[in-house]
Amino acid sequence: MSSANRTVDRLRPFTTTIFAEMSALAVDHDAVNLGQGFPDTDGPASMLDAARQAITDGRNQYPPGIGVPELRRAVARTQHDLYGLDYDPDREVLITVGATEAIAGAVVGLVEPGDEVIMIEPYYDAYAATVAMAGGVRRVVPLVPDGDGFRLDRERLAAAFGPKTSMVLVNSPHNPTGTVLSRDDLTEIARLCVEHDVVAVTDEVYEHLVFDGRTHTPLATLPGMRARTLRISSAAKTFNCTGWKVGWVSGPPELVSATRTAKQYMSYVGSGPFQPAVAHALEHEMGWVRESALALQAKRDRISTALTDAGFAVHRSEATYFVCADPRPLGVDDGIEFCRSLPERIGVAAVPVSVFTDDREPWHHLLRFAFAKRDEVIAEAAERLRRL
Ligand SMILES: *Cc1c(COP(=O)(O)O)cnc(C)c1O
Repeated sequence: MSSANRTVDRLRPFTTTIFAEMSALAVDHDAVNLGQGFPDTDGPASMLDAARQAITDGRNQYPPGIGVPELRRAVARTQHDLYGLDYDPDREVLITVGATEAIAGAVVGLVEPGDEVIMIEPYYDAYAATVAMAGGVRRVVPLVPDGDGFRLDRERLAAAFGPKTSMVLVNSPHNPTGTVLSRDDLTEIARLCVEHDVVAVTDEVYEHLVFDGRTHTPLATLPGMRARTLRISSAAKTFNCTGWKVGWVSGPPELVSATRTAKQYMSYVGSGPFQPAVAHALEHEMGWVRESALALQAKRDRISTALTDAGFAVHRSEATYFVCADPRPLGVDDGIEFCRSLPERIGVAAVPVSVFTDDREPWHHLLRFAFAKRDEVIAEAAERLRRL
């Protein structure tokens, strides 16, 4: 076999990921890994029990393609209770293999080759790769600094919409910046989607992990948007079970059906025993989730203070697992090089934000730190950051 890269052209830009490189460096130098965005503790005990019980009960064969009924009902009920959004669990909810497959299914099922898909930069890495798989063309609209946080560049957003736009991918609360898009930003996205007859796919996997008394507003609740929005969420970040890969999409029947058509030939169905366990968690463990968000808020505070004390300019994180920090006050402006050197220098790993962008220049310096880690891990990272 030749060792040449045999990957097709359209996927070649996605061959390597920074996460693998940074995690390898973290292992080599025994660093505290704040690069990886997953929690290091388990979700609610009753949910873990429910999964074991489902295996014992023999729920080990293919579940229905659209997902087990109790999970679809729980997904629908949660959205009704929290946001007043009503979805028919039989026609308007689809269970997927994580939010990742929901995104892939929506894009592959709804985007024609050559169609343009708008996404907010920095963007979650799967968006660009998935649009490339569908033969779509991505158009990026940046977040811009706004005080110590970020907001959408609304002029660039309006300019990005055109006759070829078929979809906008909206991620709020936003990974990697921890931004919750403002009402004004959401209103402008909704106005443009209606005016240009564009479908919105919303990645809301951090919907419950918002801080400082903020509330999350689904784009689907804005005027005209229920009929043109596919709302995606997942158990992964909500219930600390990123390895279970249980996600879902909710929306009008024709959009869910298009997603289902693609999903059907990606994975056929999602994992059987984890679906009833997540249904149990949605029905009985939302209190656990509220506690988890409060604990994350405290972790956000601790790591933000440690970064500030170490000399970084720290951006406001309003939600998610992440906070972004600017090392320029330390005399550093190459975020990628800095991230490569940090594990060896001080024993902490982070990821450079520029890897989530097309236009790297404005993001060149910035670092993302994940704080969904045990308190002693955060404390150790804080201690090591003092060495800077
Ligand atoms: C973690 C993450 C996902 C993936 O969720 P899964 O349910 O694990 O597939 C999708 N979008 C964003 C923004 C994420 O941070």
